[in-house]
Amino acid sequence: MSLTRLLSMITRTGTMTEPVADAPIEIREGFVPPACLRGSAQVRHVDAGSCNGCEIELGAAFGPVYDAERFGARLVASPRHADVVTVAGVVTQNMVEPLLNTIDATPNPRVIISIGDCTRGCGVFAGSYAVAGSVDDFAEVDVHVTGCPPAPEAIIAALRAVTRR
Ligand code: SF4
Repeated sequence: MSLTRLLSMITRTGTMTEPVADAPIEIREGFVPPACLRGSAQVRHVDAGSCNGCEIELGAAFGPVYDAERFGARLVASPRHADVVTVAGVVTQNMVEPLLNTIDATPNPRVIISIGDCTRGCGVFAGSYAVAGSVDDFAEVDVHVTGCPPAPEAIIAALRAVTRR
């Protein structure tokens, strides 16, 4: 494809990302986003025992339509490279140690974002023999995203509460 044709297609298509929308999030009382994370935050995600519904929405939040990276949030593979830990799902018995290890391996000042109703009170999985507790039983959550699953806009709102972009 010629460069002229490519530029013409880009011009015709225009911007495809969704505009910024307000979405409900809950911020811990007294939480102040670390100043060093203003503008840019690296994110390590942990699936502590979710049904994967929240991960589908998280994937959409970082996809080309919602494009969380335009607000300075970027997914990374290692907690040692991260500023923010996002967690979805209940905490299953087998995920207690990996979750705590991931949080411990994330340098301070770190921010913890819980995604989805399961992370508070265990949602539909409450009482299961496989469940050790909800995320807030194991960590101090700074920002909570409500919904089952939450919309990508809400996940982006939580990330923007940290990067303030
Ligand atoms: S909050 Fe809903 S979508 Fe998310 S992990 Fe729990 S059950 Fe699944």
